[in-house]
Amino acid sequence: MFIRSSAIMIFVLVILSMGAESSEAAPATVSAIPESSMVPGGVAIVPTSANAIKAIYQNRQAMLVNYEGEQFAIIGIALNAKIGAHSIILEYANSSSETLRFTVKDKQYTEQRLTITNNRQVNPNSEDMIRINKERTEMNEAFSSWDESRTPVLSMRAPVEGIKSSSFGLKRFFNDQPRNPHSGMDIAADEGTPIYAPAPGIIRATGNYFFNGNTIILDHGHGLITLYCHMNTIDVSVGTEVETGEQIGKVGQTGRVTGPHLHWSINLNNVRVDPALFL
Ligand SMILES: [Zn+2]
Repeated sequence: MFIRSSAIMIFVLVILSMGAESSEAAPATVSAIPESSMVPGGVAIVPTSANAIKAIYQNRQAMLVNYEGEQFAIIGIALNAKIGAHSIILEYANSSSETLRFTVKDKQYTEQRLTITNNRQVNPNSEDMIRINKERTEMNEAFSSWDESRTPVLSMRAPVEGIKSSSFGLKRFFNDQPRNPHSGMDIAADEGTPIYAPAPGIIRATGNYFFNGNTIILDHGHGLITLYCHMNTIDVSVGTEVETGEQIGKVGQTGRVTGPHLHWSINLNNVRVDPALFL
């Protein structure tokens, strides 16, 4: 009898502590939301009917915001997402939950063929692969960050003054070999052109990576994380808090490039989405 009642006590404590934990989650109140685009590589803006405290999409926490008195889930859709119905689980303070659905429509991205003179950047050797995998883990850790202490700014300024390409999502071939689709926006500018933070955040990672060259990962909060690649110089360090318009580095041509430019990508719930939706 004693054993049974203490087991019940433990069970009750677990329920209580779970409740305390989930009540810490809270949507951010924002002054702008991105354009909704329910296609692979897009962002789904899904109105929620009531005061949810947490949104889960594909087993990962997703952004929930209050905007102009209403609540929305802001969901990053992967470039390789399946066409058709997708679901979001909403959790409420009273521990109940609800499933919402949205439909991902097809979008055909065209091909892009690039010639890279350094063949190791197309077919890395086994030593390179060890480095690439280590860097992938490091970047993935930064992209998985969930920081609720920051209110994400969802309307951004371009990080560089330059020529914005519409190359997001292109099916890429390097030296005629198929590779991952292009997961960011390329902005062409001269080497040394300053790169500015497009929104406030904290520098989550910096490094010199095999493909991305000199790189910064900037965390804006609630799973919104931006990436800057191929930089000439990195002018910030991990943990630096930056405001909109603060210089974080300079345009370069480090890593796998065909000329100087900034590769800028935006991550939502650890999914690369089209940066143009946030400009
Ligand atoms: Zn790029």
